[in-house]
Amino acid sequence: MCELCMKHGAGGKWYLNAKHYSDEVVEKYGLYDFLLEQYKNFEQMSVRKVSGFSPVGMDYRMRMPIIGRIIKNMAGNMLNKQRFPKDPFKPESHIGQIVPMEDAIAIIEECAAEPIIEKNCMCRYMSRGEKEACCINFGVMSEVISQLPRFVPEKDKFHLTRKEAVERFKAHNRKGYIGTIWFGPFPYINNLCSCESPECAGIRPRVDFGIMSVHKAEYVIGLEKNRCDDCGACIIKCPFNAIEKDPYSRKIKIDLDKCFGCGVCRHVCPNDALFLLPRDIVPEVAGKY
Ligand code: SF4
Ligand code: SF4
Ligand code: SF4
Repeated sequence: MCELCMKHGAGGKWYLNAKHYSDEVVEKYGLYDFLLEQYKNFEQMSVRKVSGFSPVGMDYRMRMPIIGRIIKNMAGNMLNKQRFPKDPFKPESHIGQIVPMEDAIAIIEECAAEPIIEKNCMCRYMSRGEKEACCINFGVMSEVISQLPRFVPEKDKFHLTRKEAVERFKAHNRKGYIGTIWFGPFPYINNLCSCESPECAGIRPRVDFGIMSVHKAEYVIGLEKNRCDDCGACIIKCPFNAIEKDPYSRKIKIDLDKCFGCGVCRHVCPNDALFLLPRDIVPEVAGKY
């Protein structure tokens, strides 16, 4: 289990601890007002300077040896703060982890606070101008979003029953979208997202710059070699480039260090040769999140 589960999981996974979805947390931190302020100003917030650094043109600065390291540490520390933030304009305490479909279903069925909605993904909107409804929100977050028309999908129905939310999530996951769950902010869990790389503002900093913006899943992929016919379908599906063909044997090879444990490669395997293993029982990646 990752450090988040050990501290906040009450003996299980942090995102399956119902306490983090509760009304008590909402009331204790005045979350309605906090989130309304944050999401009213979402686009401005994502380009404003934090501690003197603006995210605009960040690629170049991230590649500078000393400045890059400073920014990486600052950003990682800010995102991973495990206390409720004071300032709604700072992206503090937005801690997330990759979740496979099975755990996402457990979140929706067993933990998510109602109302449940599906909102437009702001990462896709800001990076490619497309509105796609694929973030599933819970509780007070759903109430806040319902007040902000630009997040509300144009389709008639964006309030979902638990069953509908499960079906929507499954459809996104089968397309290859990466399941992610987020404290928003700590200690309240309100976003179950279906992300794409590189558009996701949570995944890209991790993949491109090594900023700890999202934890790998509690799982890693396993391959049953005698079932695999090396068709290569999973190579195309893996959003993290963790699967390739050995150039000599032409057999499938998985780089466990690159595997985030999202599980989406399983959906395209015609032979059910791919399966998830708990990260902690695989010595090569145990404890590496
Ligand atoms: S975290 Fe994922 S689904 Fe949520 S807004 Fe970002 S890309 Fe979209
Ligand atoms: S190999 Fe790992 S990272 Fe790639 S799709 Fe499969 S589970 Fe996800
Ligand atoms: S999709 Fe399945 S059968 Fe095809 S290469 Fe991948 S693991 Fe092997």
